[in-house]
Amino acid sequence: MGQGKNIFDVVVVGCGIAGLSAGVAALQNGSKVAILERSQIDERGGNTRYTESYWRMKSHNEVSDDFEEKFAINAGGYIDPELTRDWLKPYGDWPGILKAQNSTDPELISTFAREAPKALKWLESFGIKFDFLPNYFISQSTTRMAPVGGGLALIDALSKYADKYPEKVNFYYEMTAQDLILNKSGDVNGILAKTKKNESKEFIAKKVILASGGFEGNPEMLSRYIGPKSQYIRPVAKGGYFNRGEGIRMALNIGAAPAGDFGSFHAQPVDPRCGESEAVVLHFNYGVLINKLGARFTDEGIDMVDAVYEPITREILNQPEGIAFAIFDSNLDDVDNWKKTVRTTVAPYEAATISELSKKISIPYDELEKTINDFNLSCKLDGVFDPYSLDHLSTVSLSPRKSNWARPIVKAPFKAWPIIAANCFTFGGLKINSKAQVLNMDGEVIPGLYAAGEVAGIYHRIYTGSTSVMRGAITGKLAGEDLM
Ligand SMILES: Cc1cc2nc3c(=O)[nH]c(=O)nc-3n(C[C@H](O)[C@H](O)[C@H](O)COP(=O)(O)OP(=O)(O)OC[C@H]3O[C@@H](n4cnc5c(N)ncnc54)[C@H](O)[C@@H]3O)c2cc1C
Repeated sequence: MGQGKNIFDVVVVGCGIAGLSAGVAALQNGSKVAILERSQIDERGGNTRYTESYWRMKSHNEVSDDFEEKFAINAGGYIDPELTRDWLKPYGDWPGILKAQNSTDPELISTFAREAPKALKWLESFGIKFDFLPNYFISQSTTRMAPVGGGLALIDALSKYADKYPEKVNFYYEMTAQDLILNKSGDVNGILAKTKKNESKEFIAKKVILASGGFEGNPEMLSRYIGPKSQYIRPVAKGGYFNRGEGIRMALNIGAAPAGDFGSFHAQPVDPRCGESEAVVLHFNYGVLINKLGARFTDEGIDMVDAVYEPITREILNQPEGIAFAIFDSNLDDVDNWKKTVRTTVAPYEAATISELSKKISIPYDELEKTINDFNLSCKLDGVFDPYSLDHLSTVSLSPRKSNWARPIVKAPFKAWPIIAANCFTFGGLKINSKAQVLNMDGEVIPGLYAAGEVAGIYHRIYTGSTSVMRGAITGKLAGEDLM
C-alpha cells in the first residue's frame, strides 16, 4: 500500500460531465486538481460520452414549465406528511432526520431549477452551443435543448480547457478509485486508487468529489438492489459498463445517507439484436406489445410516448424472459416519420401472415392469433387517427385497454421488433445538499466529501427525462466551486 503519494487541493473521481465540471470549476477557483479515471483517455466520459445530452429547458434562461412539478410527482413513494412538514421551513431549520431522508427534497429541486441556466451558460463559455436540436421523438410532452455535438462535445471542451493548465490539473487514466482515505478526525482526506497493474496510489486532498457514475456496470449490485430480473438488462451504451458503483459503495461504507430508488433505473426500450448505442424502438404506441406467451400486457397508447416509455419498458422487463415484441401491420406507414423513432439498425421480422410471423418470433400461433383478433374486434374507430397527438382512438371492453392510436392489425405485411429494457443509469446514490456535499445518516455534512452526477441519488418512480446531464453539470460545478 501507499506506493506513491500525491498531494492536491481537490481529487475528482470520474471524467464524465460531473467530474469534468467539478475539476474545471475547482481549477477556476484556483485549486490544484487530480482527476482519476478508470478508462483509457479515448474512452473517458462514461455515459456522457454517448449521450445527445438533452436538457429539460424552455430557453437558455429557464427550465421547462413542468420541471419542478415532474420532480415533485416523482419525489418518492408515499411521502410521510408528518416528517416532511418541515420542508416549509428554511433548510437550516430542518431536523437532521429530514435532511438525510431518501425522497427528492424541494431544496435540491429548486437548486437545479435555479442553477441549470447558469450551468448551461458556463458550458457555453467553453465554446459549446446549446440549441433546440431534433431528437428521436415525433411527439413530445415537454421542451428540450441540447449542446451541438452532444455529451462528447462537453467532454472534449471541458478537458481541452483543463489541458491548458497542466501545472494545475493532472489527469490519471486507467486509475480506479477503490476507497476513501480518512484523517485522524474521520474527515475525508483523499482517495486510494489502483493502477491497471494493481499498484496502489494515494491521492491526498482536503476535498474529494465522487463523480464515478452509478452502478449500471456492476452485475452484483444490480442483482442485489434491482433483483434477479436484472439479468435481462444491459447498459444502453458502452459507457455504462465503466460505472461499477465504487463511488457509491465507498461513501455508504463510511456512513453516507442513501438517496434515490436503489431498486430502479432509467429504463429505455431497445432492440436486443443491435449492438449500437441507444438502439431504441419507440413507435410501439402505434401497434401492440406482445409477450413471449402471445399476450398483451399494457396500454401501449396511454399517453405521448416520451412521457410513458419508461414505465412501459419496466413492464416489458417484468414479462417472461424480460422481452416483448412490438407488432404492426402496414398501416404503420400512415405515420410519416415513424423511422425517426426507431434507432436499431437491424431490420424487423416481417411476414405475410400472423401465422408466419408467430414462427419467426417463436410465439405460439394460437395465442398470438387470438390476441390480435380480440384486439382488432375491440378497436372502436370512432374518430380520426392522429399520430402526433392523443387521438382517443381506443379499444372497448378489452383488458388491458389501448387508449389512443388503436387500429386493427390486418393489412400485410406484418412487422415485429423485439424490445428489452436497457439500463441508461441507476437511480440509487448518495444524499447531497445544495452544495453537493454528502450527508451522513443524521443529515450532517461529511467533511471533505462531495458527490456529483449519477453518484448523487435523486430519482424515484419515473425519471424526469432530460435532467441527468444537467444534474451532473450542476452538482459538479457546485462541488468544484465550494470553498468548504
Ligand atoms: C445513450 C445515452 C443517452 C442519454 N441521453 C440523455 C439525455 O438526452 N439527457 C440527459 O440528461 N441524460 C441522458 N443520459 C444519461 C446521462 O448521459 C448520464 O446520466 C450522465 O451523463 C452521467 O454523468 P456522470 O458524470 O455522472 O457519469 P458518466 O458520464 O458515466 O461518467 C462517470 C465516469 O467515471 C468513471 N469511473 C467509474 N468508476 C470509476 C472509478 N472507480 N475510478 C475512476 N473512474 C471511474 C467512468 O469511467 C466514467 O468516465 C443518456 C445516457 C446514455 C448512455
